[in-house]
Amino acid sequence: MPFRSAINSQQSLLLTLVILLGSGFLATSLLSYYSSRASIRDNIINTELPLTSDTVYSEIQKDLVRPVLISSMMARDTFMRDWVVEGERNPEQMTRYLKEVMEHYGTYTSFFVSDSSLTYYQAKGVLKKIDAREPRDVWYYRVRDMAAPYEINVDPDMANKDNLTFFINYKVLDYSNKFIGATGVGLTVDAVVTLIDRYQQRYQRSVYFVDTFGRIVLTGADGGPSGALAGQSLRKLPSLNDLLKKLPKPQSGTYEYSSEGHNHFLNVRFIPELNWYLFVDKREDTALYDIRQSLYVNLLICLIVTLVVVWLLHQLINRFKHKIEAQATLDALTGLPNRRGFDMLASKTVKDTQREAKPLTAMLLDLDHFKKLNDTHGHLAGDQVLAGFSEDLKSCLRQSDIICRWGGEEFIILLKNSDSRGARRIAEKIRLLAEQHTYVFSNHPLQVTVSIGLAELRSEDTLQTLIARADRALYAAKLHGRNQVCIEEALSA
Ligand code: GH3
Ligand code: MG
Ligand code: MG
Repeated sequence: MPFRSAINSQQSLLLTLVILLGSGFLATSLLSYYSSRASIRDNIINTELPLTSDTVYSEIQKDLVRPVLISSMMARDTFMRDWVVEGERNPEQMTRYLKEVMEHYGTYTSFFVSDSSLTYYQAKGVLKKIDAREPRDVWYYRVRDMAAPYEINVDPDMANKDNLTFFINYKVLDYSNKFIGATGVGLTVDAVVTLIDRYQQRYQRSVYFVDTFGRIVLTGADGGPSGALAGQSLRKLPSLNDLLKKLPKPQSGTYEYSSEGHNHFLNVRFIPELNWYLFVDKREDTALYDIRQSLYVNLLICLIVTLVVVWLLHQLINRFKHKIEAQATLDALTGLPNRRGFDMLASKTVKDTQREAKPLTAMLLDLDHFKKLNDTHGHLAGDQVLAGFSEDLKSCLRQSDIICRWGGEEFIILLKNSDSRGARRIAEKIRLLAEQHTYVFSNHPLQVTVSIGLAELRSEDTLQTLIARADRALYAAKLHGRNQVCIEEALSA
């Protein structure tokens, strides 16, 4: 396979692996993320928010039941009715009565408004006269005309620095069921505000109340959506544009909307006792923070695993490639470069040497009567000698020389920076070493000699002509009796 296409196929293999692993990991991570997300959303919409709304509602109911009972008791109290019927003679008696109720039951305020005198009595004394034109007194006329025995109203309490107060307004009837006034107690909304704050902090959700006109009436200490305060209309909050499209006026139900780039879940519930809507709102991000973090961790792990797998595979392929390349250019028996390995280096070396005008000598070696050695001692013995001779050969050469098993029992060497005289010295050394070395195979001593032909590179030479001239010198060495070194130059001279 050509080199470039091998690189391309390796790259496309790695790329395919990255795509396969990456898309597999991505798909499983996203699938688990989206299924967790769906179940969390489902849980928020169907369980969490309604549960909060239930709890807040039941707390409010619990807080309101007692004052309703106290107010009912006041409205049915014979002292109160007798005192009114008898003409409200001693206001102090009434204020004492109201003070007693307030202190004994721990309410925030207590009051009585007489229908005949329109006097507003409370625990500290007579507060004022009720006036039909006074907007603050509208509640009284509403209570007077309503069919129900009582109402719960939320208003600032004039008697208590205008603090927001839940009033239980009970109708007082005389013994013939004629309306003679309104009485009841008030309690502060602080308890509800504390409850809202606790829910907001503990469960990261926002809780607030809205009246039927869409005005915020009660929030936690930090305000309602976007910090809006009681009295503000939801319609005036630009951040709630999306919600208002879905919910133009308050209505019980579950909603999803986006505000300032975040998705919100909202549960709205009507509280009949207050004529208010309870809004419980949760931002999706806070709920999904944990699973989004685990998605990122998952993706990071997947990325690392993919990179490690690809890197390991890349290393493995490279090592395998180098091994194959080495195997393709090395001779298995001697470990020397083969002809293929030689060709890769030799042509370039010849050209470089000619350009740099340096000396270079080619040395061709052929073991003498090797066929006979094989025939006498066997092929394996011949292999042993070939391997041993190769080691001797290497020991006589420099690192820079180019060596090759040319085929069979023939070797070729390019001696860099060596003219034929220098090369002869090396060749003689090799010849002598072979001659003196006794190789051993199966306890049999084996002797071998070598004939060597040398040719020094000329400017007009190619690798082929250089080798051909060395071959001529080798032939001459054989011809002149073997175990000797011949130089081609000397022949032609
Ligand atoms: P000369 O002195 O003229 O070179 O005679 P020679 O016998 O060495 O030459 P010839 O070319 O007739 O024989 C070469 C022998 O080398 C024949 C072949 O079987 C043997 N040979 C070639 N390669 C190997 C090898 O890898 N292992 C062994 N054991 N023998 C080999
Ligand atoms: Mg031969
Ligand atoms: Mg031979």
